[in-house]
Amino acid sequence: MNASLNSSGSMPAQPAPSASVAKFFALKPRLFINGEWVEARSGKTLPVYDPATGQQFGAVADAGLEDVDRAVHAARAALETGPWSTMTPAGREALLWRLAELIDRDAAEFAEIESLDNGKTRFMASIIDVPGASNYFRYMAGWATKITGTTMETSLQAPGAKFHTYVAREPVGVVAQIVPWNFPLAMAAWKLGPALAAGCTCILKPAEQTPMSALRLGDLIREAGFPAGVVNILTGLGESSGAALVAHPGVDKVAFTGSTDVGKLINKSASDTMKRVSLELGGKSPMIVLPDVDPQTVAGGASGAIFFNAGQVCTAGSRLYVHSSIFDRVLEGVSAAAAAIRLGPGLEQATEMGPLVSKEQQERVLRYIESGRKQGASVAAGGDAPSHPGYFVNPTVLVDVNPDMSVVREEIFGPVLVAQRFDDLDAVVKAANDTPYGLGASIWTNNLSAAHRLIPRIKAGTVWVNCHNLVDPNMPFGGYKQSGIGREHGRVAVEMYTETKSVCIMI
Ligand code: NAP
Ligand code: MG
Repeated sequence: MNASLNSSGSMPAQPAPSASVAKFFALKPRLFINGEWVEARSGKTLPVYDPATGQQFGAVADAGLEDVDRAVHAARAALETGPWSTMTPAGREALLWRLAELIDRDAAEFAEIESLDNGKTRFMASIIDVPGASNYFRYMAGWATKITGTTMETSLQAPGAKFHTYVAREPVGVVAQIVPWNFPLAMAAWKLGPALAAGCTCILKPAEQTPMSALRLGDLIREAGFPAGVVNILTGLGESSGAALVAHPGVDKVAFTGSTDVGKLINKSASDTMKRVSLELGGKSPMIVLPDVDPQTVAGGASGAIFFNAGQVCTAGSRLYVHSSIFDRVLEGVSAAAAAIRLGPGLEQATEMGPLVSKEQQERVLRYIESGRKQGASVAAGGDAPSHPGYFVNPTVLVDVNPDMSVVREEIFGPVLVAQRFDDLDAVVKAANDTPYGLGASIWTNNLSAAHRLIPRIKAGTVWVNCHNLVDPNMPFGGYKQSGIGREHGRVAVEMYTETKSVCIMI
């Protein structure tokens, strides 16, 4: 059975976008700098493709060095002078809340834009990405009024003097925020939300493959009433505009989500000017299934953990470790689930999984599958691409793998699961931690003691039990080891956008 085909044996065509989205895509390529829509100084543009068809549907401005410089100056001016610099926390809260309301108002349009740009289904965008973004802005709106410092006693002494000492938190300053293509709007919200709550000013660079929802967000940032220069949005290439932002002396902090390789480059480059850096990088997240669970339930959970968003998720459950006693039944269930997923274009209602984001990504994922095969892995489901235009890859399950294969070691970032069996808990803990990554992990068991004994042994920023990939704005998110530096969400995310100032007053 070929999972890509519907019952009539062909994939449905991508429906045409709505009139309002078509009108938006037809707008002149533009950058959002200092509250205005402007062209790139060079006049250069970049094409944008629908991953379901491979057809170009729009173009965006290709920001160059001059544009980066303009945006950084606008952000600096907005930080230091003008209404934002004196705005109360309640004022920032109100703006963030208003932005969330506007996203909700335009939710249908955002879902369609995200689907056409990234390939994900409109349905998923409408229940995950878009409400995820608006709820995130609402959550962070609340933090604007809750940033606090501390007072402390010191042991300082001077004849006849007393001391009043306290710690204040100030916005870190101008922030460059570089985001990937897997959840474009939600990633923009994860970056902008805490930075704006803390009083920073921002330059957002979306991924070259998925710039559209960030531009649409720019319209709403303006409509919400954020002062000019507080948020600037530059579409462009990572190696030019992205790298220029990271190197720019006028930027105080870089916040990045994307590949570990680029994260390392950014960390090195930012160190020249000692910028603050937070990095949300790759993963190769293990799922550990203990013998007491119902194999069918776990198969459903594991399938969701790897195939959600076509596997293009930094915490995707990409390594499945199942106790030998139930391995065959879980494998059968997860392979059947993979084979049953209906592939198709994102705007088509019956589609359950869209294409990957780009031709490069499709080729990269297929190369990994091929390398696994060559090294002796067997294909329990999928293993190829449907013969159809667009960047589709069939949901794939590989078995007979060993810990040295690149499909087990490296982040594939596609719908590819590697399944292994285990007998011994110590061995599976060792295998789960045998990776340079440490972003997420899940444990599947109803044995409370076993779960609590395992949780501290897993080196990952998030450990889920009987679920996977669940994120909440109040739950810190980030990685151990080469999965990143810092945490997003919650108080810690807001504090990452602040500097700490100790004040010592002799009275
Ligand atoms: P990427 O290069 O890391 O892209 C992430 C963002 O960084 C994009 O906005 C990108 O711009 C920008 N960028 C690239 N090079 C830069 C540089 N030298 N300086 C500053 N910014 C730079 O990821 P990708 O190329 O899209 O994907 C490559 C692989 O990374 C994927 O196959 C996947 O394995 C992994 N990935 C992981 C995550 C994650 O969340 N863990 C997310 C995305 C990708 P451009 O769009 O112009 O490149
Ligand atoms: Mg790239």
